[in-house]
Amino acid sequence: MLAIRPHLHVRRHALQFLRFHSKVVTCSELLIYGANTDVGKTVVSAALCHYLITRGHAVTYIKPVQTGSETDADAISRLCTAEGLSNIAFETLFHYPSPESPASAAEKAGAIPPEDAAFRQAVVESLARGSLTAPRFRLVETAGGPLSPGPNHTFQADIYAPLGLTSLLVGDARLGGISATVCAYEALKARKQAPKMILFVGSEGQHSNAVAVQRALPEVPVVSIPQVPPLSEPLTNWVALKDVADGMSQVLRVMKGEIPGDEEHLQGAKQEVQVEHLQIDQNHLWHPYTSMVKPGRVWSVRSAEGCLIQLEDGRRLVDGMASWWCAIHGYNVPELNAAAANQLGQMSHVMFGGLTHRPATLLAKQLLDCAPEGLTQVFLCDSGSVSVEVALKMSLQYWAMKGKPSKCRIATVQRGYHGDTFGAMSVCDPVRGMHTLFKGALAQQLFAEPPELSTDWSTGDDGFSSMESLLKERHQEVAAVIIEPVVQGAGGMRIYNPSYLQKLRKLCDELDVLLIFDEIATGFGRTGKLFAAEHAQVSPDIMCIGKALTGGYCTLGAAIASEKVSHGVSGPDGRQPLMHGPTFMGNPLACSIAAASIQLLLDGPWHSRVKSIEEQLVRELRPLAAYAEVEDVRVLGAIGVVELKTAPAEPQKLQAALVDQGVWLRPFGRTIYTMPPFVISSEELSRISGAIASVLDAHIPRSAE
Ligand SMILES: *Cc1c(COP(=O)(O)O)cnc(C)c1O
Repeated sequence: MLAIRPHLHVRRHALQFLRFHSKVVTCSELLIYGANTDVGKTVVSAALCHYLITRGHAVTYIKPVQTGSETDADAISRLCTAEGLSNIAFETLFHYPSPESPASAAEKAGAIPPEDAAFRQAVVESLARGSLTAPRFRLVETAGGPLSPGPNHTFQADIYAPLGLTSLLVGDARLGGISATVCAYEALKARKQAPKMILFVGSEGQHSNAVAVQRALPEVPVVSIPQVPPLSEPLTNWVALKDVADGMSQVLRVMKGEIPGDEEHLQGAKQEVQVEHLQIDQNHLWHPYTSMVKPGRVWSVRSAEGCLIQLEDGRRLVDGMASWWCAIHGYNVPELNAAAANQLGQMSHVMFGGLTHRPATLLAKQLLDCAPEGLTQVFLCDSGSVSVEVALKMSLQYWAMKGKPSKCRIATVQRGYHGDTFGAMSVCDPVRGMHTLFKGALAQQLFAEPPELSTDWSTGDDGFSSMESLLKERHQEVAAVIIEPVVQGAGGMRIYNPSYLQKLRKLCDELDVLLIFDEIATGFGRTGKLFAAEHAQVSPDIMCIGKALTGGYCTLGAAIASEKVSHGVSGPDGRQPLMHGPTFMGNPLACSIAAASIQLLLDGPWHSRVKSIEEQLVRELRPLAAYAEVEDVRVLGAIGVVELKTAPAEPQKLQAALVDQGVWLRPFGRTIYTMPPFVISSEELSRISGAIASVLDAHIPRSAE
């Protein structure tokens, strides 16, 4: 066996030791990809089967799709028969006799190929067969390369990716095989299927493909086993070679995660690096809303996947924050990774002045297809706050062009939050926001009482009267009203009756005032509708979006206006430009990711997912209303809020206690709230509710009912 990595030599004697212990493996599943057809997938499978059976394991060899008259199962079966090995079962799930690609072979056979989901189901059932009676090792061998089409024309890699099986890639040792192997690896990695190991058959020596591939892909172990004998000779002698057996032992250990790389000897060094890293953070990096003198505790994150955030210390936290409303699909999402990678290969950015590109036009089309009716003109910008600035600017310019420059104030409600830039700050809550600090520098805006809290929308006062009298009195000076529809987010997680928005729309029309909905937090399904405006069935004149727009991958915002606004802004002769143009406007990378995120959202069952999150949050959080210290529990869509009567004395302790419970939440003011990724499982969501309940128990006294 040729060990490509130096440290694998060192490990050899350890492998020798393990070979005398037959139960190296208990029960496992392994998916075998090839960099191409004819690179030795089947001989590797044969060697693995042989290795496992001769060490006392039961094996099932599964070939989901097979073309040609002789099956790979036949070849392996012949080897096992020759050796008198019987502890093996074979399953060939779809077999088409013509020796060509599965789709055409199926057509020649006059067969209707299985749909991808049915195909996967067949593999899943095959994997499950007999697993109750005794542990078995299951090998699944794919056909061709990762991007070879399956029976239904879908790439093999895309067919198998959702199964999430641990995989091995058999490299291509032939001329041209370096590229084929690296391409195959990257294609799998882009689909979150990165193989744990690359194994070559007969790729030895300093100039071998194996060495070149290891150089190109330092993150994955690359190993080579000896060349197979010519077809005329049986495999019996080859599988018995020590280097072949060592290779198989190594495959199995890597698959089980037993070879953790160089971690042991790096452990000490790593800890030093970790300490230094946290010191740099503490001394030199500002975090959101923190003091540099008393910065507060931070947790260092290594990576995140699905709904789990993995800390540097190895702990995994269930994410209840979706990174401030953004990561609706969770983390490390194959579709978004692929969109980013593809776009990077084209261009990450070009200026938007005088140039355009498909990512921007595609995104604009998608946004307009799903935005509330009447919104037709998209201004792409850097972030949520900037989209608010743009919307305010549009409103002021609109009235300036209409010859009414005195309409230059913005009306809004208390308890609102619209961002941290100056225009946005001027419309944030005047008491709890940043007004007191920046009073002199902020535009003076008009504030009505906040809408009434309400989750039962069939009854009750919506609190509109304050806004009504404000507008009736001051509409001559008001350019626009800005409001977060249905949920006031950062200003206290306040849910209110959509009837408020219907009345507001009507009054704005009567009094000639523009209406801006800030959907930065509520957009893209969070409240159970794609946009919260839909609860009221009204459209604003301008809508601001951001946050979940890119699925939480990178920053991007947009202000989307009606034609009435865009025409008004352009003046009577249509020549007045809108005076805004950020450097990174329409950034292609962000647009591509956003387009992929919206597609993924709309193609998936987001509505039922949000609905079931809502039902579960109601079930699990409502009972907490019985606590004496709890003021209110409210739920809407994928938002669950527990509001306390008083803010916790030591919010840092509460935060740490939640981390100890294995969840990531960020209590804020008097609220402990969650707005998880839509893809969260019900078990993960229960972890979150459970953690909230348990910190209430531990940190906040229970009522004596
Ligand atoms: C987060 C937020 C903003 C600000 O967006 P940034 O991207 O942080 O600038 C504005 N409005 C609302 C409602 C928000 O939730």
